Amino acid sequence: MKLYNTMSRCIEDFVPIVPGHVSMYCCGPTVYNYAHIGNLRTYIFEDVLKRTLENAGYEVRHVMNITDVGHLTGDGDDGEDKMEKTARETGRSVWDIAEFYTKAFFRDEEALDIIRPDIVCKATDHIQDMIDLIKRLEDGGHTYTAGGNVYFSIDSIDDYGKLAKLNIDDLRSGARIEIDSNKRNPKDFVLWFTNSKFAGQAMTWDSPWGRGYPGWHIECSAMSMKYLGEHFDIHCGGIDAIPVHHTNEIAQSEAATGKTWVNYWCHGEFLLMGNAKMSKSSGGFVTLPVLEEKGYDALDYRYFCLSGHYRSQLRFSYEALDAARAARQGLMERIAQCKAEAEPSSEPGELAAGYMKAFDEAMENDLGAPQAMSILWKMVKDGSVPASDKLAAAYHMDRIFGLKLSEAEASKSEAVGSEEDLRLLEERTAAKKAKDFRRADEIRDELRKRGFNVKDTPSGAVLERIV
Ligand code: AMP
Ligand code: ZN
Repeated sequence: MKLYNTMSRCIEDFVPIVPGHVSMYCCGPTVYNYAHIGNLRTYIFEDVLKRTLENAGYEVRHVMNITDVGHLTGDGDDGEDKMEKTARETGRSVWDIAEFYTKAFFRDEEALDIIRPDIVCKATDHIQDMIDLIKRLEDGGHTYTAGGNVYFSIDSIDDYGKLAKLNIDDLRSGARIEIDSNKRNPKDFVLWFTNSKFAGQAMTWDSPWGRGYPGWHIECSAMSMKYLGEHFDIHCGGIDAIPVHHTNEIAQSEAATGKTWVNYWCHGEFLLMGNAKMSKSSGGFVTLPVLEEKGYDALDYRYFCLSGHYRSQLRFSYEALDAARAARQGLMERIAQCKAEAEPSSEPGELAAGYMKAFDEAMENDLGAPQAMSILWKMVKDGSVPASDKLAAAYHMDRIFGLKLSEAEASKSEAVGSEEDLRLLEERTAAKKAKDFRRADEIRDELRKRGFNVKDTPSGAVLERIV
């Protein structure tokens, strides 16, 4: 398995810490609104990564957090808590909002056939873990308190910004306008807020530094370490997390433990709307329910995402989604035809096995989904692969793609018919093979009288009931 590691900017051989096992942490949603399909692209990428690792024989422990406190509208500790803002705007409690959008998120994930992480952990259930980690940082001399907040001092470590390749001298020069005058260095960040900028902050907890709430970054460090240990294999997210969120996660985690925290950093590129990143703040965003209301299946969107490499930007448009829908339906149709003819073979022949191997290789080479998709198509169109092998190979590939191919049902072309109908169909195939086209046509007419059209497909002729 090869994976691009943002830390080294190289495609590397994947070597897990514990042979045969993979520990993987993915930053989860902030549940103050619906996830948009850009967010969902990132979760689809992470799901495909996990499935590829599992297909390669690893046992994966997948942890994802739910951010239900502490994520401010601005990345630099500016703005207000996103949850509180929605609460204020809607008149509902933060807890209600968190519950509602968490449910909506998992509804979307299920529709997209995203396998639920082994552990889903809510920030608000792990406040003590965060306090413990902040105490550890305080003991190590990495924090200071100012204006009632506890800050992480990036000058207390010597490799701040290594993931994003930030230029520390530029950071120190303080060229940017500083919003928080308590900060000694503009890139210092809050670990614990007691001095809420907003009166009536609903979510607060007691702490050694006073009643307050955690900064956003500390939750991922605390929860990942709780469930995966102080050193684990893979950490994922969207690329927008690199310069601040993941940079700060690394700084505080490695400052606390004194050692490397994560071996592989994997980031998914943006979904674009027009020429810009799809985002909630810019207003121009689309949710999965909106697509569904327009008559698309969630899996049309999954298929669309698979058509691009996770490290390339993908531009959303309804035309592109229409093309994905048509392609997916075509694929399902072909699988349905195979299902009508055969059962999946338990041991596919050499040809199908070759396609499966090529597919796995494409996916294990830094998740080459577009290439793997073309291998899947080549295989289903290959007239030399028997239907039973096609099914077995397609189902194998679908363990990674997650397109529910085994649920394919032919729409109109479902091959039905009595034994006699099917015997006639076989006789027609034999007649055609023997170039007895007169007899083949006769049988076709006979079948028509019996209520069926004969449809020739790359994997053989099938009956189509005349409606
Ligand atoms: P949030 O709920 O805002 O914390 O975002 C959830 C995930 O979606 C994070 O991993 C982000 O990096 C990712 N993300 C945000 N916008 C986009 C986008 N336009 N395309 C792909 N991923 C995104
Ligand atoms: Zn995170």
